[in-house]
Amino acid sequence: MKVIDTHIHYGTDPNIAAHTCCPNLITARPDSVIDFLDSQNASHGVLFPHDRVMSPPWDADYDKANTQVGEAASIYPDRIAGLARINPTFGAEHTRNLIDKYVAEWGCRGLKLVAGYDFYRPNDLSVVGPMLDKCREHDLTVLFHSGDASRDLPYLQAQAAKAYPDVRFVLAHIGMHSFLWEAIIACQEYPNITADMSQAFPFDIKTFVANVGAERLTYGSDAPYQSTAIEQLKLREIGLTDSELEMVFRTNAQRIWRFEADETPRKAG
Ligand SMILES: [Zn+2]
Repeated sequence: MKVIDTHIHYGTDPNIAAHTCCPNLITARPDSVIDFLDSQNASHGVLFPHDRVMSPPWDADYDKANTQVGEAASIYPDRIAGLARINPTFGAEHTRNLIDKYVAEWGCRGLKLVAGYDFYRPNDLSVVGPMLDKCREHDLTVLFHSGDASRDLPYLQAQAAKAYPDVRFVLAHIGMHSFLWEAIIACQEYPNITADMSQAFPFDIKTFVANVGAERLTYGSDAPYQSTAIEQLKLREIGLTDSELEMVFRTNAQRIWRFEADETPRKAG
């Protein structure tokens, strides 16, 4: 079975890429994304910029980094879903304009948000409302970095999901260990929240599946920071059934990230 990797950072300088876990994922080289997907038996990937503005901070609204993602998604639309890294503190009008532009120009499929780096609260609807309105309008999925900073806690993010029940939200890293149970409770309370398991401990992944269900989890590598082989092995080592593995590695991502579903094989006769 081909997998779908739902957590990939794009835009690594070639000199730095050699020192990461995924050296074949290089800035301004869309073909390197395809090599990266093939190297881990992935049919599709969800691609977005790195979480932080690069230093010196010339790309504070992430527009250059997003445009590079858009270039890769435009060249390989059958394999890559591109997301925009958005900092909503630039104001409602700037945020709306950026999202409209990305949707029109390269078919942006969702937003990657890291409230801790951009200094806002995910439950502050005066800040996040304008971009979540756009997600509703364009059928975009929201991926929150989740778990390891006071502004990135799952239950703050759940308040955005509560206010926008028709928008899909994903909590990356299942709350990053310390906030595993906050992520589990957020998913239990709000059906429009799912999680990706990148960087999560095997026991935490197993606990999430037991208490929320395999249909609410996707595989993500967090490349180039983590090893694709190890992130995949975590899922194969915790006793999931074949049908649970198929959901986590593939079919849930098709639903959450709007990849076309596989054709059902027709029975002979
Ligand atoms: Zn990440």
